[in-house]
Amino acid sequence: MVTAVDVVVVGAGLSGLVTARRLQQKGLRVRVLEARERVGGRMFSQSLQNGGVVDLGGQWGGASHHRFAALLGELALDTYPSHYDGDGVLHWQGRARQAPLAPGFGESLLFFEPQQLDLPAAELAATLELQRAFAQLVAQVDPRQPWRTADAKRLDRLSVAQWAAERSNHKLARLPLAWLCRVGGSGGFEPWEASILHLAWSQAVAPQAESPEAWLVRGGAGQVPPLLVEALQAGDPDCVQLGQAVVALRQSEGCVTVVTAGGPEYQARAAVVAVPPQLRLAIHLDPPLPAAHRALLQRSPMGAMTKVLAVYARPFWREQGLNGLGIGDRPALELTADSSPPEGQPAVLASFLAGERALRLGALPAQERQQRILDDLVAYWGPEASKPLELIEQPWNAEPWSGGAFTSFVTPGTWTSHARLAAGDQGGPGPAAHGRVHWAGTEMSPRWPGYFEGAIEAGERAAAAVQQL
Ligand SMILES: Cc1cc2nc3c(=O)[nH]c(=O)nc-3n(C[C@H](O)[C@H](O)[C@H](O)COP(=O)(O)OP(=O)(O)OC[C@H]3O[C@@H](n4cnc5c(N)ncnc54)[C@H](O)[C@@H]3O)c2cc1C
Repeated sequence: MVTAVDVVVVGAGLSGLVTARRLQQKGLRVRVLEARERVGGRMFSQSLQNGGVVDLGGQWGGASHHRFAALLGELALDTYPSHYDGDGVLHWQGRARQAPLAPGFGESLLFFEPQQLDLPAAELAATLELQRAFAQLVAQVDPRQPWRTADAKRLDRLSVAQWAAERSNHKLARLPLAWLCRVGGSGGFEPWEASILHLAWSQAVAPQAESPEAWLVRGGAGQVPPLLVEALQAGDPDCVQLGQAVVALRQSEGCVTVVTAGGPEYQARAAVVAVPPQLRLAIHLDPPLPAAHRALLQRSPMGAMTKVLAVYARPFWREQGLNGLGIGDRPALELTADSSPPEGQPAVLASFLAGERALRLGALPAQERQQRILDDLVAYWGPEASKPLELIEQPWNAEPWSGGAFTSFVTPGTWTSHARLAAGDQGGPGPAAHGRVHWAGTEMSPRWPGYFEGAIEAGERAAAAVQQL
């Protein structure tokens, strides 16, 4: 049986749902086909045993995330500022250092007031110098066509780790860049897995300096996808179809035929594929993608990331004048953040096992891994952290329809070769549309790729493009 619609959207994550919403608002008939038996992809909440919810995927919005804020307004959802009142803790080489946060990321050592960290003067000076050098590089990157950045080829063949090692032999100096690779917004890779050009590009288009973790959604960000579905279904009850993995997209004159694993087929004037880049490789395209595009996808792995949520009876750290922001070189957790609402209930510390740690610790028996997680929570926040009411782990690399988190990155050398070729001379940074098949998904956004904001912008751009067909 073949269903005819105007546009088929592949993937009911935030990006695909926003694409569909904008198209439906223009009066087009849309089908969103989702492989999982749930919507939301990387935007997904879980209820807690004693009430309240936690986000197993993304949770924060940023100071300049205007599209995300506007969408929440459309859906009548409220936000509240993230809790940063009080001191945080930097854990470095076995010692916890309590310190206030700096006014801006640019003047900080990983958010902290550098002079308050009680670090050896030479190490601190070397760290700040390396950060300045990196900031200069970020300012020089061409955000749309990174391959046009001055000295791009060399910078793209040099890993983040090599670039840092060439400049400093102080271990502390290398911490901020390694931390950005693993747990910063682009996240999930080790400093030897991506080039310094890639890291600089990621900070040029999604700057930590613009405070992407400024606020949270009351009731959880995971409410957004079901609300979008509700609105889509009000316009067309069949609009969103679950359990329909798209396996093939065939283009013939003026038409795309969409084939799903379970059998149903759809015909549309256009298709928007809103899935993480590597998952596009699992969809058979006829005509096939250009070789450079396929090569780019093969070199765009997802980050390795497990999100950890520790739920407590009360936010005990706040009672001690602490804000829950823990950063450091611990063996398991390199970041913890207070993710409780202003009233402190449920009291939640969100945290991550990132990069190699996610895979290495992920392979341990659950009890042993959880003990290591608790050891690190105690190292940051003291003995009370050892007894959470709930300890929730969400290993994103075990999710076949995500493949990892937070987002994809590209391997060294890719920007200046495969990505440049896939984009064509005038395009970038992502590859061009393939006939009537367009690309959405957060990774396709020119601003804030990897974030909710990017997912929305990519969806809105794809919707605008396919309306013309
Ligand atoms: C742990 C974690 C923390 C994060 N933190 C933040 C944060 O605090 N703030 C922020 O802004 N962002 C954050 N992010 C990133 C944010 O969640 C994502 O950028 C955003 O949700 C991506 O949306 P998307 O629609 O582009 O992709 P996805 O959410 O990945 O959606 C893609 C959808 O396509 C489906 N799919 C895949 N293949 C097929 C197929 N062949 N056929 C049909 N369907 C298919 C998938 O099942 C999925 O539902 C975080 C992500 C994670 C995982």
